[in-house]
Amino acid sequence: MRDPESELADLDARQLRRRLKPLESPQGANVTLAGRGLLNFSSNDYLGLANHPALKQAFMDGISRFGAGAGASRLVSGSLAAHQALEEALAAANQTAAALLFSSGYAAAVGTLPALVGKGDVVLLDKLCHASLIDGAKLSGATLRVFPHQHLEKLERLLVSQRASLPAGSRLLIVTESVFSMDGDLAALREIVALKEKHGALLLLDEAHGFGVLGPSGMGLAEAFEVQGGVDIHMGTLSKSAGLAGGYVAASRAFIDVLINRARSFVFSTATPPALAHAGLTALELCRGGEGAARRGKLAENRQALARALGVATPPAGIVPIILGSAAAALEASRALHAQGFLVPAIRFPTVPLGAARLRVTLTADHAPQEVAALAAALAVFCENPAGRGSCDKASS
Ligand code: PMP
Repeated sequence: MRDPESELADLDARQLRRRLKPLESPQGANVTLAGRGLLNFSSNDYLGLANHPALKQAFMDGISRFGAGAGASRLVSGSLAAHQALEEALAAANQTAAALLFSSGYAAAVGTLPALVGKGDVVLLDKLCHASLIDGAKLSGATLRVFPHQHLEKLERLLVSQRASLPAGSRLLIVTESVFSMDGDLAALREIVALKEKHGALLLLDEAHGFGVLGPSGMGLAEAFEVQGGVDIHMGTLSKSAGLAGGYVAASRAFIDVLINRARSFVFSTATPPALAHAGLTALELCRGGEGAARRGKLAENRQALARALGVATPPAGIVPIILGSAAAALEASRALHAQGFLVPAIRFPTVPLGAARLRVTLTADHAPQEVAALAAALAVFCENPAGRGSCDKASS
């Protein structure tokens, strides 16, 4: 039997061991981590809503109205008005007939994929898709085919070959993120929608990092590219730009009813606290209204300022990766930045492929221009790339 101590020693030896560090302040541009004040460039709170007074108030109002916990699965104890109101709003915002809440984005993925596809079906997945999508696809029992990141020709070849061998009535499902979580680039969504229509496939789009950041009302890449109707399954999470927690799926009434019956992370899991759903409605209003637009504008200014200072193209969303190669190099860079007062995480295997460890900078609407300028000055050393050290090219992809 493998003993856990040697397992941990092995992770240590490969510079892949993770440790939890205590965060002693609320989420925000300035945080206190393990007793040290740091400028925070690590969170996905892109619009700076996690500690927003209106959102906190909505959460408290929700507790007053609905209590603290949901008590059971919604199929067992009844479905509260707070969940339904948020689902209706999410459906309307995504231009779908219905939506369903899950306790997290991860739960949405591992519940939804096995509910929609199974043995005899095929899932075509971009190679850089998030772990939750990979886990959901594996759990489903469907045949899994991975196409190289953003490789549309390969995707089309797979669509053709799989369609040819698939029995009638089987499903062919394309899965992609809208904004790739560790690379920050955008899916070629218009082309993917055209391909899925041409080859009679379904499309599941994970807008985890697009929601709040892209599109005129912040609904993500599908809204930005005006292809909401071409996406069969919109997936997202309230844990990033919405400043809360909880996953969602928006789709046709029939698909959502299938999920209510078959998505095991919905059926067999206690509903999210209704106060969270109540606050979710406020988060959605903030995102989609004037305040959200203003915050997206500030985020865009910060993206442009960092890119200008580093001499790279403006990243299309809130994520700026700086590829350093080895886990040791990424850790060393993250530690050096920490010593200068910046929280920028080193991202290593298995979150990214071996040899592609990186710094992952996330910008938010709450960062002040001088904070972004200070970060740019500290990052410059990793972007100069005199001896193949770092590469900021990804930021422009
Ligand atoms: N999809 C993507 C692309 C993500 O980056 C994440 C979170 N890192 C998730 C899904 C899961 O969302 P949640 O954190 O709400 O579980």
